[in-house]
Amino acid sequence: LAFDLLLLNASLLPMSATPGCATAMRDGALAIANGRIEWVGRTDALTDEQIGSARQVADLRGRCVTPGLIDCHTHLVYAGNRANEFAMRLAGASYLEIAQAGGGIRSTVRATRAASEAELRDSVAPRLENLLAEGVTTIEIKSGYGLDRDTEMRMLRVARSLGGSIPVDVVTSFLGAHTVPEEYAGNPDRYIDFVCRDALPAVAAAGLADAVDGWVDPGGFTAEQIRRLFTVARSHGLRVKLHTGQFGTVGGPPLAAEFEALSCDHLEHLSEDDCVAMAKAGTVAVLLPGAFYYLRETKKPPVDLLRKHRVPIAVSTDSNPGSSPIQSLLLTMNMACVLFGLTPDEALAGATSIAARALGLQDRKGKLASGFDADIAVWDCQQGVELIYALGTRPCLAVIKAGRVVRDRAGLFTSDDAAAPRGSAAAANHNRAS
Ligand SMILES: [Zn+2]
Repeated sequence: LAFDLLLLNASLLPMSATPGCATAMRDGALAIANGRIEWVGRTDALTDEQIGSARQVADLRGRCVTPGLIDCHTHLVYAGNRANEFAMRLAGASYLEIAQAGGGIRSTVRATRAASEAELRDSVAPRLENLLAEGVTTIEIKSGYGLDRDTEMRMLRVARSLGGSIPVDVVTSFLGAHTVPEEYAGNPDRYIDFVCRDALPAVAAAGLADAVDGWVDPGGFTAEQIRRLFTVARSHGLRVKLHTGQFGTVGGPPLAAEFEALSCDHLEHLSEDDCVAMAKAGTVAVLLPGAFYYLRETKKPPVDLLRKHRVPIAVSTDSNPGSSPIQSLLLTMNMACVLFGLTPDEALAGATSIAARALGLQDRKGKLASGFDADIAVWDCQQGVELIYALGTRPCLAVIKAGRVVRDRAGLFTSDDAAAPRGSAAAANHNRAS
């Protein structure tokens, strides 16, 4: 079997054990065929013949190689921005006060309803590009700024279409139960009726959502309201996930666990019983330090309790126009360490193997392992902790998506000099000829 692409002399962070950074494999090699990772091992285990027959070979000279990063919780499709609210919050207004005054999610809903599908696609592309430039190869995108059937479906169609034109896998979540829209003000039960009877069935019939999301929190929906939504989701064969525990404790995690949710997200307010329930259900805790930072919250998620009960911890940008206008997963991983006390190993696993689990993709994404999708990032550093330690350094040198080099800022995969593995004339000659 000839390999399509062979990476040699890499510092591999396979993320196949948790946590990951500590298990870096020096002088590692990775072989790709047909868009999948075919083999992972040490460079000196490869024969000259194997190297010589590979279509393309890159000597990475000790640079770090990780699975492509996975941003497992974003609201990337929206119109407008909420910079004015940022200024209001800095002047002392709270997130819930701004929402109650007609700002917050509802202001983005107004702008998003007024935007065409093409306008939404044009506005999301540069945001996505910022994430991809940092090695992201899979992203989850939620609806939730339409809150009517047509706009929710438009957002999901835009999210789905991105994966066709840009080298990224997009996983979609239907978040009709994001908040109560203006036309249902004071009638959350009637709005949930609409979501359950009209919007969700239409979204499911069109195949636009991979999962169903909701918000259980003070200021959001009650656990009983979201139970109705999750029951309908299950009847359509859709997995669920939940925004909860951002502002208080109103029964979100036990509900999520009951429905074997993929993830509970935010979780600053989380009890030990909640952790036990999530661990038992296999529900991932997705931490969103960007929202904590922007809202200048002080209560942190109970990371020690999550560790104690072995709840898998993911980290995500929560990229959205209000509480977390962040388009950098690396920055968010740094925040998860500095603000929440995650170790760099935990943050890296949280943006790769555990993030894959939060999307139900743990069997094919988030690890450098044989049979996994060949979604790979090459970094300008020798050890994983460097990705999290510095800010603003643009460390991503190259990205491989489904086995294809889609980004190569340093010419690692083009120049003969860089591509020729030391001591292997056969590989160098082959590369020049191809
Ligand atoms: Zn969110």
